[in-house]
Amino acid sequence: MRRPFNFSAGPAVMPQEVLSQAASEMLDWHGSGMSVMEMSHRGKEFISIYEQAQADLRELLAVPSQFKILFMQGGGLAENAIVPLNLSKGGTVDFVVSGSWSQKSYIEARKYGTPQLAASSEADGFTSLSDPTTWQLSKNASYLHICSNETIHGVEYHELPDLKALGSQAPLVVDFSSHVASRPVDWSRVGLAFGGAQKNLGPAGLTLVVIREDLLGQALPICPSAFNYKTVADNQSMFNTPPTYSIYVAGLVFQWLKRQGGIAAIEARNKAKAALLYDAIDNSRLYLNKVAANCRSRMNVPFFLRDESRNDAFLAGAREHGLLQLKGHKSVGGMRASIYNALPIEGVQALVDYMREFEQTRA
Ligand SMILES: *Cc1c(COP(=O)(O)O)cnc(C)c1O
Repeated sequence: MRRPFNFSAGPAVMPQEVLSQAASEMLDWHGSGMSVMEMSHRGKEFISIYEQAQADLRELLAVPSQFKILFMQGGGLAENAIVPLNLSKGGTVDFVVSGSWSQKSYIEARKYGTPQLAASSEADGFTSLSDPTTWQLSKNASYLHICSNETIHGVEYHELPDLKALGSQAPLVVDFSSHVASRPVDWSRVGLAFGGAQKNLGPAGLTLVVIREDLLGQALPICPSAFNYKTVADNQSMFNTPPTYSIYVAGLVFQWLKRQGGIAAIEARNKAKAALLYDAIDNSRLYLNKVAANCRSRMNVPFFLRDESRNDAFLAGAREHGLLQLKGHKSVGGMRASIYNALPIEGVQALVDYMREFEQTRA
């Protein structure tokens, strides 16, 4: 069955193989007589699913042994509170605001500490990234927060900043929700990374947190126990019931990623997909992407029709061509194509072909 190509920003496209496998195992997982969603999280069946998912993710992302991998709930937005509750010590924390998501994080942190703006690219409409050497770093910040891929504005750090090289000892906190597992991570630069699963890892409900061990155990007294990273880590993510079915499906995605050749192979494919789409945009008279070339996202590509009166016709034609969920975020307008790991290059090619046809015949 050929399904339409789905460009949703999240919850987003899943590998079809994974959906088929989950469907075939729905009523009876591996002869257990149970669906995964019916299993005790403390039973041997689910523990084996959990351990396999942990091991596969650690291998895929090359997570060093001094980092814990936590499977939590609450999504990226809850982490905007959970991170300062655990790491701010109620004091100064630095933020680089590069789009809607880091801006939300910055505002939420005011409840728990004293966030300082190290840099912001709001003045240019979040179409660029400031050079880390220009950041105003606080001397005593407990951490510095960035969003490494701004899902709405389509801005991505092609390389994580090296805070040590900038003379800072602050751990780097990274919201990598919308490009986790799309490329390797340089863990030597990271203190904590978090992401909701529903963009690139699996179903909504699972939130991934990867945290360096020395950052555990500093939570504010008001931190809810279920959101205290040390409590979660000490209980292998089972202090309370974890999102078992989402962990299971994410585990199937990790195995799919390994079959694709791992993260390096996926990254090469993601680069090719993004180049195909950006080239089509840049070489047209109708379409426009405003993000600076050195920080264009390989996952989320916002673009505009220079004649905005054609937006509805563009979207209607796209749907007829089996190209779904291309409408841009309401705060930015225009279009957005999210081209996550599970969106094949054939989908990007189909989009580019449609964009050319629309420009030539219907614009
Ligand atoms: C989607 C997204 C979030 C919010 O995730 P929720 O699961 O809705 O809380 C946070 N940060 C980034 C970068 C995102 O793309």
